Amino acid sequence: MDSARLLELDTRHVWHPYGPMPGTVEPLLVESAEGVRLRLADGRELIDGMSSWWAAIHGYRHPVLDQAVHDQVGRMSHVMFGGLTHEPAIALATNLVELTPEPLEHVFLCDSGSVSVEVAIKMCLQYWRSLGKPAKQKLLTWRSGYHGDTFHPMSVCDPEGGMHSLWRGVLPEQIFVPPPPSGFGVACDEAYTRELAEAVARHADELAAVIVEPVVQGAGGMRFHNPEYLRVLREVADEHEVLLIFDEIATGFGRSGALFAADHAGVSPDVLCLGKALTAGYLTMAAALCTSRVAEGISRGELPVLAHGPTFMGNPLASSVANASIGLLHDNEWSAQVARIEAGLRSGLAAAVELPGVREVRTLGAIGVIELDHDVDMAVATEVATGHGVWLRPFRNMVYAMPPYITTDTELAAITTAMSAVAERA
Ligand SMILES: *Cc1c(COP(=O)(O)O)cnc(C)c1O
Repeated sequence: MDSARLLELDTRHVWHPYGPMPGTVEPLLVESAEGVRLRLADGRELIDGMSSWWAAIHGYRHPVLDQAVHDQVGRMSHVMFGGLTHEPAIALATNLVELTPEPLEHVFLCDSGSVSVEVAIKMCLQYWRSLGKPAKQKLLTWRSGYHGDTFHPMSVCDPEGGMHSLWRGVLPEQIFVPPPPSGFGVACDEAYTRELAEAVARHADELAAVIVEPVVQGAGGMRFHNPEYLRVLREVADEHEVLLIFDEIATGFGRSGALFAADHAGVSPDVLCLGKALTAGYLTMAAALCTSRVAEGISRGELPVLAHGPTFMGNPLASSVANASIGLLHDNEWSAQVARIEAGLRSGLAAAVELPGVREVRTLGAIGVIELDHDVDMAVATEVATGHGVWLRPFRNMVYAMPPYITTDTELAAITTAMSAVAERA
């Protein structure tokens, strides 16, 4: 089918993220992708500054990852996970327990990030039910967060960006505190720390868990904060018998400069959500990991099981490519890759602070953000970025990039040039 016809059908039938139906803005038609480049149907090639939303950390069509999928297809693509098990999933769970902070011990594999957040919340609520404290069913979070698009995750997304007003009466009402003060290297704000601790203490009787994105708040505003706030959360959660969930769906696997953002703080949550880069962008899969304390609590209850079981749980193709991706993180020395990208983003974006309309430029690990004082005109942004041979997808007033770890310095320079051009013109 020719491109015009495909795009016509796309507009008529295909729903895109956060889009209307029928679509109003024509998407770009991608034919293939290799390395860090997306090849469009019209012959253009774009350097991907987005890693397909944090996922494609090793780039596209990586021979090792392709091989892992091919090999697994030759054995089995999927089998049900109830009553059956297989090496790819066992190896993945073992790898994840090994990589993540102690004492996370048990792994629930599921389909997508949002579902892993649902599972994490279910684990925490069920834990307190099992212990005879069913009143502990609310969640506390700080504003500017993002945890996914199904209903319970939506209830802890930033109330403004998360369209809470549209869903009033439908979403469970959770407890919000102000967003953590901005800045990874900015000293801890004592007044904020006190406010955080007091909110947890005040609501302890009704709180099942505190849920936050550690260090980097992604889709809620691309904000970074001092890891010390996570240590505070760990302490007050323990003091007041509240569980702690870290959502590392965006930050996991090196993106923030530590293998997991929790490592910056040296604290471990009771439940950890992983997704996005878990399969290096090949297949949809996520995971919720928990401690033995949480698992044993659940198992002591009236209903001693976790009643959740996605059809495609533990999918062997996704598990195999996840295992191969973890191998590549080691082989490619991810921390050196991320440090090099951080340096390139920092120097490449340094001059952008001087541009009119730019409020702040910030970088952490392989993440670079230009925050504007106005919302981006998406049509102009796409035209400017693609004109520079780069794929960017700003949102609201954020022009940001989180490139694949294999991006070369030259490609990185193209990305930062395009970001600055978008900031200047969109
Ligand atoms: C993307 C994301 C999710 C949702 O993951 P999906 O796979 O899109 O459902 C949840 N939390 C965070 C922090 C994310 O970045």
